[in-house]
Amino acid sequence: MLTGIGIMILTFVAMEGVAWATHKYVLHGFMWFLHKSHHTRHQHAFELNDLFFAYYGILAMLFFLFGESPLDYRFWIGAGITLYGVAYFLIHDVFIHRRLKVFGKTSLVYLRALNIAHRVHHKVAGKYGSESFGMLWVAPRYYRSASNSIRKQKQTNRGSLLN
Ligand SMILES: [Zn+2]
Ligand SMILES: [Zn+2]
Repeated sequence: MLTGIGIMILTFVAMEGVAWATHKYVLHGFMWFLHKSHHTRHQHAFELNDLFFAYYGILAMLFFLFGESPLDYRFWIGAGITLYGVAYFLIHDVFIHRRLKVFGKTSLVYLRALNIAHRVHHKVAGKYGSESFGMLWVAPRYYRSASNSIRKQKQTNRGSLLN
């Protein structure tokens, strides 16, 4: 069980690498026709890019199906992929793109940094020239902009209280 959970955590961490590489080389590569829908502004509830969720689902399912005893290592790999898929959805679709309006503005540096990093990714509408393709791992420079923006927000809040 403990080994299982270890495998699951390792898979989760590894999936960040898989997601980064897929985003950078596949989605901004030969599958751009799917991902393009996510880099264009629109009013629809769904995007072609959403089909990409099936990728995590199918990948996880294969591990569940091919696991021999019910809880062998393949089960835990499948569980790690599923967890990552859920985390990706919550962070990317719910928190950053606000497809469900449940999270408000955050003053947690990590979440703010993650948000800024992904918005920088979206600054480029085309296939080439984007940066920060990862999701949960955030480059150090974004933490700086995040804490600056939180500091500014606090100052404005204080200012409006005084007025
Ligand atoms: Zn992209
Ligand atoms: Zn996005």
